[in-house]
Amino acid sequence: MNNSFNNSDLNQKNAIKKGTLFVISGPSGAGKSSLIKEAMSKLDNFVKSVSVTTRPARSGEVQDKNYHFLSESEFKKMQENNQLLEWAEYCGYYYGTPLKFVEDNLNKGINVILEIEVTGAMKIKKIMPDAYLIFITVSNSFELEKRLRERATEKEEVILKRINKAKEEMKYEKYYDCIIINNNYNEALKNLLYVLNSKSGGN
Ligand code: 5GP
Repeated sequence: MNNSFNNSDLNQKNAIKKGTLFVISGPSGAGKSSLIKEAMSKLDNFVKSVSVTTRPARSGEVQDKNYHFLSESEFKKMQENNQLLEWAEYCGYYYGTPLKFVEDNLNKGINVILEIEVTGAMKIKKIMPDAYLIFITVSNSFELEKRLRERATEKEEVILKRINKAKEEMKYEKYYDCIIINNNYNEALKNLLYVLNSKSGGN
């Protein structure tokens, strides 16, 4: 009987299964944030990445919880130092995903959720083909417009910009692994939980 074991056995035994990277996008007003927040409260072993942005905080938003709010020069410095996994410009402001947070958690076996816009998601799809991409949307753009206006967190000019952007973003849904329609909140939550559970941790 051969009782000896080598380093590679040991490595295999101690190997931690990597977490799964989930990228969630969808037009502004489709309800992504509420769905993700509630799904996360019901899941273990998931963290959400907090992005850096040059957008000013909205009322009620908290530094380092909703975003790391940065100046444009601080953002540029992070770009130059390769500290961002991806970044994009959206309605006049920059947004980016801090690389270290994502890497550290995936390596610890923790699943990471990125809530990012479509061009950033496409970059991730290229550089991390194992990432699972989820698109959350509603069935038509009239519904989106209604929700964005009801939310009333922005001025009319910003709302119009976001409505146009939302229409553009809806064209990207074909590049995602899964589409969740949020016409009915509870139904959408159930679907999101199912996908996150079934695709996490190397399933
Ligand atoms: P908001 O200003 O509404 O918070 O975000 C505007 C858009 O930027 C949303 O679609 C949001 O998902 C996206 N976003 C937030 N953080 C990031 C990021 O780190 N990278 C990219 N590419 N998009 C982001």
